[in-house]
Amino acid sequence: MKAFLIYMLLMIGYTINVSSQEKEFYLQAGLLYDSQENIMLENRVIHVIGNKIQSIEDPEKIPVDAEVIDLGEYTVLPGLIDAHTHVLFSQEPQDDFTEESIATLVLENPALRTLRGAKSVKSYLDVGITSIKDLGNSGLFLDVALRDAINEGTVDGPRIFASGPIIGAPGGQLYGVSHEHQDLVGLEYRIITSVADAKNAVREHVNQKVDIIKICADNLPNNTRLTVDEMKAIVETAHSYDLTVTAHSVTNQSAWEAATAGVDGIEHGFNLADSTLALMAQKNIYLVPTENSRAYMHSYYKLSGSNPEELTWLNRYFENSKNRLLRAIKNGVPIVAGSDNYTDIRIPRGASSRDMFRAYYEAGMKPLDILQAATFVSAKHLNKENEIGILKPGSFADIIAVKGDLENDFLNTLENLAFVMKNGKIYLEKSN
Ligand SMILES: [Zn+2]
Repeated sequence: MKAFLIYMLLMIGYTINVSSQEKEFYLQAGLLYDSQENIMLENRVIHVIGNKIQSIEDPEKIPVDAEVIDLGEYTVLPGLIDAHTHVLFSQEPQDDFTEESIATLVLENPALRTLRGAKSVKSYLDVGITSIKDLGNSGLFLDVALRDAINEGTVDGPRIFASGPIIGAPGGQLYGVSHEHQDLVGLEYRIITSVADAKNAVREHVNQKVDIIKICADNLPNNTRLTVDEMKAIVETAHSYDLTVTAHSVTNQSAWEAATAGVDGIEHGFNLADSTLALMAQKNIYLVPTENSRAYMHSYYKLSGSNPEELTWLNRYFENSKNRLLRAIKNGVPIVAGSDNYTDIRIPRGASSRDMFRAYYEAGMKPLDILQAATFVSAKHLNKENEIGILKPGSFADIIAVKGDLENDFLNTLENLAFVMKNGKIYLEKSN
C-alpha cells in the first residue's frame, strides 16, 4: 500500500477516535472480585470512561456531579469467558454428529447458518459471558465474520476469539464419510497431509485473521490423528504470528504428543495419565475440561429418547471427570473453563454454557477457583490478561454483577445476575 494511503487511514482513525463522545461513570461495588489475586475486595468503585476502565478507587474519590451506578448490594466481577464454544453449529440430542454436520454443510446456506449463530451469541450476554473462544465447526471462517459483525456493532454478542476451521488429519471428526465425498470435510475442517501443508494451513488462517489456532490432535470419534512433526510445525508457525494453539484430545496418547509438540492448551483431555498432567504442568499447558453436570446429561438423554436412570455408564462418566479434574488441579495444571455445549437442550445457548460452572462445582472445584478459570486464567492463556477477565486500569469495561454469596451459595448466586456491561455498553440492569 502507498505510504500516503496508510497515512490517510491513520488520520481517519485518529479523527474518529478523538471526536467520539465517551461516556463516563462510576460503578459502586458491594464486593469486587479480584480475578488475578482470586480474592474478594470490599468498598471499591470502578471508574469507566468509554469502553475502558480508568481506575479502581475508594468511594470517597467519586466527584459530586458524577454519574454513579449503584451496585452496592452486589458482587461485581469481570465478564465471564467460555473458552470452548461452537456458536455456528447446533445438534439435536437424538441426532448423529456426522449426519448433522453434513446436513449443515449441504442443506444450510452459510448466510442462514451465520444468522442463526448471530441469534445464538446474544444469549451469552444474557448470562454474563462477555467473551467466548469459538473453536471451529463453523464452516469456512463464518466465525471470523460473526466476530467482525459483533465488533462493528451490527450484531450484539460477546467478544469472539475465532479459530476458523479446525486443522486436522484426513477425515476430520466426520466419521464414515465415503472416500468420494471427502471434499465435503474440507468445507468444515482444514485437512493437512504433511508438515509443509501444516505450515500453509496456519498461514491461510493468519491471512483470514483468526485469533487462535485449533487443531485435532486426535480426530476421535473418527480414527485418524496428526503426527508430532505436523503439530510441531503448526505450533512453530502459529507462535511466530503470536497465535496460541489449542488441541482437541480424547486419548492420553494424543494429549502427550500434542504436549510434546508444544501446544498451549488441551481441550477435553478425557483420558489423561498423571505423567501427561505432569508434563502439561511443567510446560504450563492449560486444560479445558468440557464435562457436563448431572442435570444437563439428564435433559440431554431425555430429549434423545433414552431413560437417563438406565444409563449406568453415566455414573462412571461423572466419576472419571471428577477424578481427572481433581488430578489435574493437584498436578498444577492451569484450568480454563469451557462448555463445548452445542446440543439444543431447549434452553438458550448461553444458559446451556453456564452448565460448566455446575459441572466443575459438582466435581469439587472451589467457587473462586471456578471463577478464576472463567476469567483471569482463561484470559492469560489467550495473552489477553490485561484486557479481559480482569478489572483493572486499562482493561475493557466488561463488567457483571450478581446478588448473593458466591463463596457459600455459588450456583444460585451466579445465576442471580443483575448487571451486564460489555465494552462500556450496558446490556442488563435490574433495579434493586
Ligand atoms: Zn468442541
